[in-house]
Amino acid sequence: MTKEQSLRSQIKPRFVDFLKAAELMYVHPELTNCPHCNRHASVIQDFMWSCPECHKYGDVVDYVMALEHLDSEWVAIKRICRTLQIKVTTLDVIHADELMDKQFENTGALIDGFIGRGVYLLAGSPKIGKSWLVLWLAHRVCLGEDVWEFKSRQCDVLYISLEDPERRIQSRVAEITRGETGNLWFATETELMGRGFEEQISGFLFEHPSVKFIIVDTLQKVRQLRADQYSYAGDYEVITQMKSLADRFGITILLVHHTRKAGAADPFSMISGTTGLSGGVDGSLVMIKDERMDNRAKLYITGRDTLDMEMELIFDRASSTWQFLGYGGKERVQKRDRLLSEVNDFLTDEGQFHGTASELLTILSARTELQIKSANALTRLLNPQKSMLQYEYGILYNFERTGKERTLHLTRIINDDSDDTLTPGKDTVTIVTEQK
Ligand SMILES: [Zn+2]
Repeated sequence: MTKEQSLRSQIKPRFVDFLKAAELMYVHPELTNCPHCNRHASVIQDFMWSCPECHKYGDVVDYVMALEHLDSEWVAIKRICRTLQIKVTTLDVIHADELMDKQFENTGALIDGFIGRGVYLLAGSPKIGKSWLVLWLAHRVCLGEDVWEFKSRQCDVLYISLEDPERRIQSRVAEITRGETGNLWFATETELMGRGFEEQISGFLFEHPSVKFIIVDTLQKVRQLRADQYSYAGDYEVITQMKSLADRFGITILLVHHTRKAGAADPFSMISGTTGLSGGVDGSLVMIKDERMDNRAKLYITGRDTLDMEMELIFDRASSTWQFLGYGGKERVQKRDRLLSEVNDFLTDEGQFHGTASELLTILSARTELQIKSANALTRLLNPQKSMLQYEYGILYNFERTGKERTLHLTRIINDDSDDTLTPGKDTVTIVTEQK
């Protein structure tokens, strides 16, 4: 019996234990929600579930694969084992060759170069205008419109506004959206984290799978502890819980938070609480008012998917929105990859490329000063840059392996009149034609 079979036989009889341990919704031990259609109708019998609504069925592994959109049984088995606290003693490894040959499905950032997927923190002093900023962000994203100079990827949005009553939200929405609201949802009350918040959010996301952006305004309001009870471990735990929610649904959660009163040389050290908060998130934004002019603010950004930036904003009272003035401090340095710019130049001349890696290497070596040792090395340099090519340069990159050689396909994504090169809300580009 393989390791996989042995673990499968251990977890199979524990379907109900798994539902309980994962705190998944089930009406009573014999009923759970169908992972496909989410109806309260999946009957668990003999360690299996079956759905009378959509007629799908399976065991706990099939259940988790459907629920978490996994394509690997082994990954599902490991997740179930972790939830049930069954030790998995094999260490999964991947050879560098295999890793470099992988092409990852790219969901793209929420707002390119600004806010990626995962958990982000926006901190600022009280009354600085954070709520105006996040409501505007929510609105731009749900219409798929640019956020200043950054492209957003359209999705529905949930704004959890715990410090403002509906009446105030209504008047803000009216000012910002001018009637065109998009699919924007609001909640003004939630349970606390660890006491129902996670279940409320998962339940909402199951019913609204097109929601990919959640704003929690403020983080303080969903935490159980009083401010003086915070610890590094507690802060880190809060972020970990938020992250597991974000990862499970492939969404972005933006947590609105306060800064300390005292100023600091490093804006990110002004985030209230311990470094467990800023250390655990995928990115942080800190908004600081310019003391000299009360309608101006600086927005500092750092994160995994963004370059460190310092932006100058001005609050436009006529439209109640924060407008972008410019980059302060150090100039924003665009990390331009030499290879990618050369590929881009080549495609600008040629429109497209379909051929082997060696052919591309010959072309690039003739055109440029690039020193790439082999065709293999070239594909390995290009592979991890698939999303960069797509979103920064508008080039669709794919390769197939045919025997020893690889066939590369490089196609320019068409620009229709708007400069929106991607179909909003889709991971894949649907309109691809060759440009002249
Ligand atoms: Zn079903």
